[in-house]
Amino acid sequence: MSRLKVLLASSEVYGFAKVGGLGDVAYALPKALRSIGVDARIIAPMHRKKGRKVGTINVKLGKRDVQAEIYLSRVNSVPLYLVGGGGYFPRDRVYGYEDDFERYLFFSKAIVEFLRRYNFWKPNILHLNDWHTGLTAAYVKSEGLPIKTLFTIHNLGYQGDVDTSKLNLLNLKEDITDLIIHNNRINPMKAGIVLSDAVNTVSVKYSKEIQTSEFGFGLDSVLREIKDKLYGIINGIDYSVWNPIRDPYIYRKYSTKTLERKEENKKMLSSEMKIKPSDRPLIGIVSRLTHQKGIDVFLEAIEEFLEDRTVSLVLLGTGEGYIENKAKAICDEFSDVVGISIKYDEVLAHKIYAGSDMFAVPSRYEPCGLTQMIAMRYGSVPIVRNTGGLSDTVIDPNENKNCARGFKFESLDVEAIKKALSRAIDVYENDREYWKILQLNGMRADFSWRGSARKYLALYKRLLSS
Ligand code: ADP
Repeated sequence: MSRLKVLLASSEVYGFAKVGGLGDVAYALPKALRSIGVDARIIAPMHRKKGRKVGTINVKLGKRDVQAEIYLSRVNSVPLYLVGGGGYFPRDRVYGYEDDFERYLFFSKAIVEFLRRYNFWKPNILHLNDWHTGLTAAYVKSEGLPIKTLFTIHNLGYQGDVDTSKLNLLNLKEDITDLIIHNNRINPMKAGIVLSDAVNTVSVKYSKEIQTSEFGFGLDSVLREIKDKLYGIINGIDYSVWNPIRDPYIYRKYSTKTLERKEENKKMLSSEMKIKPSDRPLIGIVSRLTHQKGIDVFLEAIEEFLEDRTVSLVLLGTGEGYIENKAKAICDEFSDVVGISIKYDEVLAHKIYAGSDMFAVPSRYEPCGLTQMIAMRYGSVPIVRNTGGLSDTVIDPNENKNCARGFKFESLDVEAIKKALSRAIDVYENDREYWKILQLNGMRADFSWRGSARKYLALYKRLLSS
């Protein structure tokens, strides 16, 4: 067979627009695929003009015609097609606008027009990601395009659903429209799930969890129905970005052999965040501050430890006001041991991974989670809720003493978190030798994209032979 061609469609690509893990995946996976022989390229919205214009296409939104401009750029050595036009994307934020549905409908339709109109490169696989490109699957099906579609769910909590008054924008036949309505609303996430040739989520555990009412966000029955075409493939992290040996952003580079240098990163981080340097464990958090992430409960649980000055805490994140306020209040109360930064800051994120001893990810649900993997790569021992990708990537001493690389707790409640924290602190304070084993196990674990890219390749091939 000639070289497999894959077009990966994503609303975010690190370096162009990133809000969370989706941006990291769209940046890293195509490159990893190319390194194993796949001609992978990316298509994404154009948040700012970059590259060279390769054409314009007409996109129909209801009765309106909107011109889409296609630019060709490159990211991480991968060709990147950018879709601009209509004033939809060059805005301050990536998401959170009244017309988000229309913006991504425009993008979804532009992808299909791009496939129809551009003959110089014909992909065999269209790899769609999250609700923003879910409707693309509907147009590929309704137009009978000769391409197989894979739809990856990165977060089922965001479905992009809107009321049916927007139906007139879709220009879809009734039989297909019926399939994408859920609870009387147009649901792009459902469109991706039911109309793609295969579906996957970003960890095996999450692929099972979303078939239950607890994690299904109302789509669990839909997912149970398609379970024969539902897979789980864990994300990787990009080792060219996340590597303490070569990281230009951290205070002092280190490796498994020079782990003691991590201590300097801790000192410098403490000073930058204006907290007292301490021999006690420093806990790091880098997170969107949304309900999903469970930071609100974690902050309650850690209060007692902060009061006793048993630990210190450095938190970087932005998001919902009530969580930001809670973080600010704790910082005001325990200012000598708590440093927070309410913003998005790539460089500081690197410094926190390098400078923290422990890293907390107390998510209510977590499809994959990258931060715990990055933390482990930097020898920061994760304390995580036993859910989704956190469950698949962290090993607790109670599961396997020799291979352990973090601590897990089951339910998201204050007592369970306190117990996990106490277990971690106990090892840190009383058994430094074992603590180092936990660190080294994490640093040596393979979270690279290579293995995951191979799994995607196997899935693409399976689709093409079906
Ligand atoms: P999600 O996609 O749900 O936000 P992930 O763990 O999959 O969570 O990915 C989060 C990514 O975003 C990581 O690369 C993390 O370092 C980064 N990140 C999150 N918040 C911030 C922030 N405030 N500043 C810098 N990077 C952040």
